[in-house]
Amino acid sequence: MRPFVFERAGSVEAAIRAQGAAGARDTASVHAAGQYVAGGTTLIDLMKLDVMRPQRVTDINALETSPSGRIEFGARGLWLGALARMAAACEHAAVKENFPVIAQSLQLAASPQIRNMASLGGNVLQRTRCTYFRDTSYSQCNKREPGSGCAAMEGFNRAHAVLGTSEHCVASYPGDFAQALIALDAEVDIAGPRGSRTIPFARLHKPPGEDPQIETTLMPGELITAFVVPAKPWARRSLYLKIRDRDSYEFALASAAVALDLDGDTVREARIALGGVAALPWRARAAEAALQGARLDDAALDAAADKAFAGARPLAHNAFKVELGKRTLVRALREAAALTL
Ligand SMILES: Cc1cc2nc3c(=O)[nH]c(=O)nc-3n(C[C@H](O)[C@H](O)[C@H](O)COP(=O)(O)OP(=O)(O)OC[C@H]3O[C@@H](n4cnc5c(N)ncnc54)[C@H](O)[C@@H]3O)c2cc1C
Ligand code: SF4
Repeated sequence: MRPFVFERAGSVEAAIRAQGAAGARDTASVHAAGQYVAGGTTLIDLMKLDVMRPQRVTDINALETSPSGRIEFGARGLWLGALARMAAACEHAAVKENFPVIAQSLQLAASPQIRNMASLGGNVLQRTRCTYFRDTSYSQCNKREPGSGCAAMEGFNRAHAVLGTSEHCVASYPGDFAQALIALDAEVDIAGPRGSRTIPFARLHKPPGEDPQIETTLMPGELITAFVVPAKPWARRSLYLKIRDRDSYEFALASAAVALDLDGDTVREARIALGGVAALPWRARAAEAALQGARLDDAALDAAADKAFAGARPLAHNAFKVELGKRTLVRALREAAALTL
């Protein structure tokens, strides 16, 4: 491993001050000079692989005892502190009852040991599992070495994305929880050197475009402090379906986070996000619009699935994800509609 400065911060302000000293390189880039560390289950992994090389690492685990570690269900809806652990959130009674898609997306992720360590803030900022990104013996990876090319484009790209990709990167976003957040119109509370701000979760991640090394809209030194999820009518009839090569401890090949507000078998509102198939947490708005006011029959479900994948750009080894993604979405919607509340 390369040498780096390590320090522990006891407050949000101290953490931001410490990262301010790391220099002005973009925190959203894998090349950022400074990084926060929470559970460390992504960062330490990538530092050992020599993919991420921060010069300054600020431990924010002490914030677990501050509001940033809390989970509360109140007037603003669900408050999920960024330092709350994945295990605490998926086992929380109010989360399970009122936002099942959130509890399930976390429960189906990683392993019990990782869920005990990993924080919610770190989870949404995890990096792609693209082999060519994680293995530095491959010289071509625009996300790791901007301008070097993309080995996955002509390589083994079975796990890669079919939606939201660019000519410069086709990596898939690996997380599960982010799909639940984007489907439920969550917001993100952020603190930084220039003060605090709140943005829609949908604006946190950016598509790869020409700069796949920059993955989010976070500014240098900014710290996620919480996620806030409104308690809308569709939140309780929600569900996360994850399809993977094996049934535990595996990333999604295709997943769907869905939430429905129904009037009998007619859809008042649908919320849909897709995982495993896209370059970033992916809200399927065209599919939602197709379902609005429709009877939830086979024709409507198939039409929504077709809309969701209308812009898909399959590669040599991942064309199966288009059909798999559609079937995953249809099954998730059927199962959500059948829930007894
Ligand atoms: C074997 C394995 C299997 C896994 N399977 C799954 C899976 O199926 N589904 C899934 O969703 N995930 C999976 N994961 C990923 C795992 O969930 C993430 O590694 C974890 O959630 C990251 O959280 P952390 O607290 O450990 O983050 P860290 O490693 O501490 O940090 C990750 C990144 O986020 C930044 N960061 C952390 N907290 C903040 C904050 N509050 N504000 C700003 N920046 C911050 C850090 O600087 C770093 O860049 C798996 C991981 C492993 C190792
Ligand atoms: S898909 Fe993205 S992360 Fe993977 S090799 Fe290409 S540029 Fe790198």
